[in-house]
Amino acid sequence: MAMLSHTTEPVGSESLEKWESVGSGGFGHVYKARHRDWGFDVAIKLLHDGVGFYSSAPIHKEKALAEEASHMDKVSCEFVLRVYGLYEGIPPLGGLAMQKGIVMEFMGGGSVQALLQDLSGPPPWPLVFRLAHQVALGMNFLHSRNLMHHDLKPSNVLLNDEFNAKLADFGLSRVSTSALNSNNEMTGEAGGTYKYMPPEAFEASYEPVRAFDRYSYGILLWSIVTGKEPYPMAHSSLVALRIPEGDRPPCKEINHREAEGLEELVDLMKLCWDQNPSKRPTFKECLEVTEKVFSKHKKEIHGAVHLVLTRLVEPTSFLSEN
Ligand code: ATP
Repeated sequence: MAMLSHTTEPVGSESLEKWESVGSGGFGHVYKARHRDWGFDVAIKLLHDGVGFYSSAPIHKEKALAEEASHMDKVSCEFVLRVYGLYEGIPPLGGLAMQKGIVMEFMGGGSVQALLQDLSGPPPWPLVFRLAHQVALGMNFLHSRNLMHHDLKPSNVLLNDEFNAKLADFGLSRVSTSALNSNNEMTGEAGGTYKYMPPEAFEASYEPVRAFDRYSYGILLWSIVTGKEPYPMAHSSLVALRIPEGDRPPCKEINHREAEGLEELVDLMKLCWDQNPSKRPTFKECLEVTEKVFSKHKKEIHGAVHLVLTRLVEPTSFLSEN
């Protein structure tokens, strides 16, 4: 099927059925619906609380939606969430106002953030290495197309039914959260939560460059390897103070002997969050490491996926393999 271009007619409510609410984020609310003609489920992200473009929607959000849609042709990649087009209509579950939104590929496995929460820890190692590799593949693709993400974090890495990763929100992220995100965390002007923002981004004159995403990737790797949220107890203003001073999430509890290649992945993580942006490896360089370490565990990936599915269905019958 050909990729829709942003000049295509928006998808209207009449094309969609079986609406279900999925969840809310800083930008808006996400729904799942079946496209009547296409025959498969899509995700629709709408602006918050019936804020319609025909009423008081901030102009920068409208621009962001158009921008996201305009990236569609540029970003057709297995590791980046597919955007099918714009939505325009009165959604059955979203109030009475006319709304605009974006129609995307529906990801049945939720986000990496939700997975880590549901597992109360990291996924089995083969899945850790595959996630690390797939995120690097997606980011390398975006950077090769001169696109930056600026909000790379576990909630913006979505998973399909087999837990394959795709990057989401790279167009909307710059405006997704003007003051508070879904976790009531303050976010920076440049987009992204403080916890995933590099030290230099806290300077008022900062202009985002690729090194921003490389830093975020380092913190994301830490989250995936440990299964934890960085700086869980710290208020965002403290985080904003400490990251520029060189604070990073702790690595002392990571036992390199638990998995072959883990030490190399941890070394990569630390390089990515280097204080000096010019020392952070490019995603092309990251791929050399992630491909190598994932290859050591590739054969075990089906078992790991099965284990996670079992654990999500029957949480008490699972003994951690990590
Ligand atoms: P933030 O706005 O701070 O980035 P977020 O990423 O959680 O937070 P949204 O992207 O709006 O916010 O997502 C809201 C919910 O919808 C989350 O649970 C997310 O996992 C889910 N979601 C978003 N996009 C999709 C999609 N394409 N397919 C399936 N679920 C999705």
